[in-house]
Amino acid sequence: MEKHKESEEINYNWVLEILKNGNQNFVDNWGQRRNYRKEVRDTSTGQTPFAAILSCIDSRVPVETIFDLGIGDVFSFRAAGNFVDPKIEENNNILGSLEFAKISGVQLILVLGHTGCGAVKAAIAGDPTECQQTNQMIGRLQNNITTNDENKAIRENVLNTIKHIRKHSHCLSTFNIEGGIYDITTGKVEFI
Ligand SMILES: [Zn+2]
Repeated sequence: MEKHKESEEINYNWVLEILKNGNQNFVDNWGQRRNYRKEVRDTSTGQTPFAAILSCIDSRVPVETIFDLGIGDVFSFRAAGNFVDPKIEENNNILGSLEFAKISGVQLILVLGHTGCGAVKAAIAGDPTECQQTNQMIGRLQNNITTNDENKAIRENVLNTIKHIRKHSHCLSTFNIEGGIYDITTGKVEFI
């Protein structure tokens, strides 16, 4: 049992290193030249992704690219504001999918916020849009934020999202969940 725990720890650290090194490659512009045709072929009979990443829909945060990853490497979750609704009964699709990622063998979940996040800006401003579902979503995101300082709010949202995942999913309550902030001006991910 203890041995099993140790190997889980090794795998978790290994995955964290892959993400950190991959992001450094991206920042340094040393990303791998990928053979997508081979990657498609190699993953055609099954998948063994090693991490699940919950990030924003922002077009400047393409997850596989910023971590120098390929096909079959990660489960990618994208939703405006990269958050799980605190009122979980209204939206449990992301949480259900995160649990599925754990069942499928990922070693860690990364909740990835980013600087300049339009969803967080909208939550701070609180101005209604012409679209009802967007307004409701921004309203739910507001529950994750207690400050008008944009950068602090982005961080707070990531940390509260991790808290909500643990609270509302029994099977993820003690799972390896990391937080990160992607800087849209440098390409660097800060792990928090
Ligand atoms: Zn965003």
